Amino acid sequence: MNRPGPRLLSVKRAYHLSPNMRRVILTGDNLDDFPEHHESANFKLLLPKPGQSLNLDSLATNDKASRPIVRTYTLRQFNRAEREIVVDFLMHEPAGPASSWAANAQAGDTVGFAGPGKPKWVNTAADWFLFAGDMSALPAIAANLEQLPDNAQGYAVLEVISDSDKIPLQKPANLEVIWLINPTPQTPNDTLFDTVKRLQWLAGNGAAWVAGESGAIKQIRRYLKDKGIDKRRLYASGYWQIGMTEDIHQEEKRKETDTDN
Ligand SMILES: Cc1cc2nc3c(=O)[nH]c(=O)nc-3n(C[C@H](O)[C@H](O)[C@H](O)COP(=O)(O)OP(=O)(O)OC[C@H]3O[C@@H](n4cnc5c(N)ncnc54)[C@H](O)[C@@H]3O)c2cc1C
Repeated sequence: MNRPGPRLLSVKRAYHLSPNMRRVILTGDNLDDFPEHHESANFKLLLPKPGQSLNLDSLATNDKASRPIVRTYTLRQFNRAEREIVVDFLMHEPAGPASSWAANAQAGDTVGFAGPGKPKWVNTAADWFLFAGDMSALPAIAANLEQLPDNAQGYAVLEVISDSDKIPLQKPANLEVIWLINPTPQTPNDTLFDTVKRLQWLAGNGAAWVAGESGAIKQIRRYLKDKGIDKRRLYASGYWQIGMTEDIHQEEKRKETDTDN
């Protein structure tokens, strides 16, 4: 499927899902070709640079200087009947253009939206599942848990900033959720990795889906490969990096991929 062109959307409503997670519901008249069942897919949020106004020309431009600010987010839900696109934004510190925009988002505000890409579903051809991630990955993990078969088993290790950030999840009964509290995710830490290492390995083929801070995910990816998780059943992605804005982080990821080739 070709990626649809960028759209100009407006905020329908916004509210806090938990102290550090703000839900923004976007809408627009131009959602007829918006794909169904793409929850967990990522998209590009397009924000105006200072002094810039957003319109379809500025969203589509190839001119680097006049391109909007681009940040990557996850499609949490899409409701065609209500014309609603749901996105959950972590309110991280230090904030950046996207988290600041979401913190202040009010009905009627406009924003650019490019995508969504392909959904990031866990490979369900597996005997058990392991999800691990921080709050940046919580929207995609929550969407994944909702679509697992009722008899699915395994673990979801979820790192959140405070106890009150534990949100209700729709999940199979035998999928154990392990919440970890880390109030300072911007300090290098092994919170997620240490817990993943302590999990009791289940029998059969496991499928793993892990995302979050790049340094943590690199360690976990290496560990899961060593434990024999087949690469067809492994999704591991660094969603952000300590001390780097998304532009710099994506540039670093490109360099690493180039070096790997
Ligand atoms: C495929 C994909 C899907 C994603 N989906 C979501 C999603 O649904 N919801 C969501 O909230 N995020 C999501 N993210 C992460 C999000 O893109 C980054 O957090 C992004 O940096 C936010 O942009 P910003 O403008 O707020 O901050 P930036 O300007 O990019 O960064 C400013 C500062 O904030 C720090 N920072 C960035 N992210 C975090 C964080 N998670 N925790 C602590 N500090 C941070 C940076 O290191 C930097 O110092 C996703 C990322 C990817 C690659």
